[in-house]
Amino acid sequence: MDMTEHPRRPCRAPAAGRNKQSRLGLHLLLPLAVLSWQLPASEPLAAPVAGHALPTPAAVDVPTSVAQGGLLQAHAPGATSLQLLSAAAATSVRLAPDGGFVVGVGRDDAGPLRLRAVYGDGTTRDLSVAVKPRAWRFEKIEGVPEATVNPPPEIAARIAREQADVAAARVRDDAREDYAAGFDWPVHGRVSGVYGSQRIYNGTPKSPHSGLDVAVPTGTPIHAPAAGIVIFARPDLYLTGGTVLVDHGHGLSSNFLHMSRIDVQVGQRVEKGAVLGLVGMTGRATGPHMHWGMNWFSTRIDPALLLPRPDPAAEAAAAPLQ
Ligand SMILES: [Zn+2]
Repeated sequence: MDMTEHPRRPCRAPAAGRNKQSRLGLHLLLPLAVLSWQLPASEPLAAPVAGHALPTPAAVDVPTSVAQGGLLQAHAPGATSLQLLSAAAATSVRLAPDGGFVVGVGRDDAGPLRLRAVYGDGTTRDLSVAVKPRAWRFEKIEGVPEATVNPPPEIAARIAREQADVAAARVRDDAREDYAAGFDWPVHGRVSGVYGSQRIYNGTPKSPHSGLDVAVPTGTPIHAPAAGIVIFARPDLYLTGGTVLVDHGHGLSSNFLHMSRIDVQVGQRVEKGAVLGLVGMTGRATGPHMHWGMNWFSTRIDPALLLPRPDPAAEAAAAPLQ
């Protein structure tokens, strides 16, 4: 199995049958010699508790690679802390009670991701995850209002303020694991824009497209792809129009842009499938569509990698009638 598909599989506690098997498999496959050299020689090995596999420092469930724009979903059971290492600094990554964690990979990250798990007895384990490069599309978009492509200074200042407000909302790091139940398509329709494509508006190169666009009529309800807490809801941002952010826990958030109506408020909990509002074309948009972006904190990731693909409902709708 291609390991880049791993993030689309919800990775849960050992109680889930499939993961239990693979986790137990890892426990059994690890040579005891590896376990023993990681423990101080003077310390007696703890007797196993009947019916439970003790977490050991060596038992981790981490894929060998993740795609650019992907979400690493993995487990380091028994670890007390986890750090994402870079040349500049070490960033702490939240661990769930079962050792589950997520790390988002940016569009241009070359990798490898370097992680360090720290255990209660002071031992550490370093992990390396390769980042698989992807090819990106070019998209030319003409007919966008010029003031949204090359805004005058007073508009540029407004855009900067609004983007700072959105960035501030994404700092949140909740212990909730709403992401772990997996993601569904927020609307069903033709995909009209993909993550990562280099966009050229009216001949001016702009930032790569940061999400997934689905072309559906204004007024189409947008459903929460996973449960979460609404952390941002404003009807009138300059570039993105009606804008809603939903936090799914562990720094993972969805954003919906260009909405014609917003039906949720900041602080509100939404369950998977709840209506967040309606599709529109507010802000910089050339036609009605749902734009869905996802972030791991400030890192933009590709929602399409978290979805069942292709969208079965959209396929069925597009199929010719007999
Ligand atoms: Zn878009």
